[in-house]
Amino acid sequence: MSRRSTTRFSILGLLATGFAFGYIVACNRTESPKPVVAENVVDEEEAAATEVTFRPDASATRANPASERDAYFPGTEDLGPDEMRIIACGTGMPTARPKQAATCFLVELGNGDKFLFDLGTGSAERVSALRIPWDYLNKAFISHLHTDHFGDFDAFYIGGWVGGRNTAFHVWGPSGDSPELGTQYALEHFQKALTWDIECRKGNIPASGGQLFIHEFDYKGVNQVVYEENGVTIRSWPAIHGIDGCVSYRLDWNGLSFVFGGDTYPNSWFTEYAQNADVVVHECFITVPQLIEKYKWSPETALQVGTQIHSAPEATGKVFSMVQPRMAVAYHFFNDWDTVNDIYSRLRTTYDGPLSLANDYMVWNVTKDDIRVRMCAIMEDVWPPNPATTVMPPDPSIRIPKSEFIDGGRLDLGDIIDSIYDEVNEQYGTDESPPENGGG
Ligand SMILES: [Zn+2]
Ligand SMILES: [Zn+2]
Repeated sequence: MSRRSTTRFSILGLLATGFAFGYIVACNRTESPKPVVAENVVDEEEAAATEVTFRPDASATRANPASERDAYFPGTEDLGPDEMRIIACGTGMPTARPKQAATCFLVELGNGDKFLFDLGTGSAERVSALRIPWDYLNKAFISHLHTDHFGDFDAFYIGGWVGGRNTAFHVWGPSGDSPELGTQYALEHFQKALTWDIECRKGNIPASGGQLFIHEFDYKGVNQVVYEENGVTIRSWPAIHGIDGCVSYRLDWNGLSFVFGGDTYPNSWFTEYAQNADVVVHECFITVPQLIEKYKWSPETALQVGTQIHSAPEATGKVFSMVQPRMAVAYHFFNDWDTVNDIYSRLRTTYDGPLSLANDYMVWNVTKDDIRVRMCAIMEDVWPPNPATTVMPPDPSIRIPKSEFIDGGRLDLGDIIDSIYDEVNEQYGTDESPPENGGG
């Protein structure tokens, strides 16, 4: 061992001793600390050789500016007037797992507009971690009616309403080959399934956030405009995935473009209309061997679903090569240490351009000059953010009354509930009193 490495070893030993010592002190505060004598470990000559000087711009008390951070901390960075921010809020598969929700991408624009692309199962949790007022999250575009692409509709529609959204919820989506295979049918019936939920909230929370508008368009439309407002144009074209009724989208705004491909076998509409877009999101399924070995599917099912219903990684790479985006984003696979290498190497057999292998909370800041890719740093114990609209009290006249039978089971808590009303009236200057029979 050289003299230099001996010195390093000694300093590491000294640090380790310090940590161990700190631990002992923390565990037993009655013990008097014994000083560690540095001279025993590093002599003067060695100390001089390892002396360091602090840079003049270093500071132990100043935080790094946001622009220098390695991670995106939601709610801490303004969006530039010419900037687009895209956040992956679901990149996984139809099977639920803690690490990856099902499909959802959020696009935020410098003009203040925000758009959700797909509402896959579990994705509302991811979106909630961004702490964006729910009033701004009221426009969603669904690629197709598989639950891993719209299964969290209720969490966005009802959960967003309870979370403070006072604006109506708007959802765009394709028709199907028959009326019952279209978005209108699916969401109308989803809303019907929520009848008890909605009726129960009437008169107890503001009604405006409970409005739903469904905008169904022809799934066969090729590069058709499905949304145009405030300088934003969104177009759709068909996708090939199981049965008819699937689409992909392209958003153009201010010279920047975002393409969101829902599930599809590689198709010629995509390679034509996604051409040269800035950020192109395309599905990339797990490999056929992974479907057999990790998903426990038969080879027959794995081949059919992994190469015909979806895009195999090699096929996804071919699409990216034909489209030539500034940034290609592959998603729709479980992104783990023991799956990602095979997916990456297969995709790289057909594409050698800029590539992100998406995971939940990956974020892309897009300007004309740069595409910056980071991960979000989120905390899990989030609460609804401040609403962006004025919070109105609910209208008690539309409450649906309970039956006399159910009312008859109420405990008489008199003073206990009165004291809560007194507390709130005093703190918030209101003059409320408990309604008869709980107000229902
Ligand atoms: Zn699908
Ligand atoms: Zn899917």
